[in-house]
Amino acid sequence: MRDCGRALICGHAARPRRQPHRCELQKGWRSAIGNHLSMPGAPIVSIRELSKVYQQGEIQVMALNSISLDIQAGEFLALMGPSGSGKSTLLHIVAGIDRPTRGSCLVQGIDVTELNETELADWRNHNVGFVFQTFNLIPVLTAFENVELPLLLTRLGSKERRAQVETALELVGLADRRKHLPRQLSGGQEQRVAIARALVTDPSLIVADEPTGNLDSHSAQEVLSILRLLCKSAGKTVILVTHDPKAAAFGSRTIHLEKGELVA
Ligand code: ADP
Ligand code: MG
Repeated sequence: MRDCGRALICGHAARPRRQPHRCELQKGWRSAIGNHLSMPGAPIVSIRELSKVYQQGEIQVMALNSISLDIQAGEFLALMGPSGSGKSTLLHIVAGIDRPTRGSCLVQGIDVTELNETELADWRNHNVGFVFQTFNLIPVLTAFENVELPLLLTRLGSKERRAQVETALELVGLADRRKHLPRQLSGGQEQRVAIARALVTDPSLIVADEPTGNLDSHSAQEVLSILRLLCKSAGKTVILVTHDPKAAAFGSRTIHLEKGELVA
């Protein structure tokens, strides 16, 4: 099987697999949907005239108003803006968690707005890692089991899963906490487990919605340093939503949203 060029986390170039690699599985969607494969130098995320309107009774809330934005592969993009400006909405659409009212959102050449629910769930599991402000770990599962969860939705066998979970936990510096339950970890450690869970499927894109919002400044620095390392050393593209200019300074570019629009 050919190497897809992203062997850093899962080491799939070195290990023979019983199942086709997901890079091959995904080709079917790309051709089915009629979008092009990512070209070298092309943006990993390409958003055009994206709008999102929430209907609440008789009131319409314009959460995003005709956003156009390109994000290059390997970028660490900080997305700032006041509360209610549409940051989470934009992140959710890029991550395939929510759908826009209008416009397109291509991620690696695939218009996620056109995938059906099954395709979208599968696409999400393989292509995007999501980090939440509140960690969202399952309290009765160990750190290892929490990180393993996304892999249970793949065709990987237990040996391969174990190898990938161990690599992800090592990357966030928590290999020695694999048997700990979330309540036996500090907030910063919990968020690092959540980052390991986000990257265990080796996604190209990691999106983090105020990941340091519940952390003290030391833990926040650790989390941001890991995200930056993933970007610089593992070639991941990171989109970080934050209120904090110090956190945004970890990024390579900062953009601002106000009332659903990008501002200079
Ligand atoms: P931010 O993350 O910048 O605080 P959000 O993207 O969460 O902003 O919200 C943008 C706007 O959309 C806000 O006015 C919010 O009230 C509204 N909104 C977000 N989610 C929903 C929803 N599920 N239903 C209705 N309105 C929503
Ligand atoms: Mg938000």
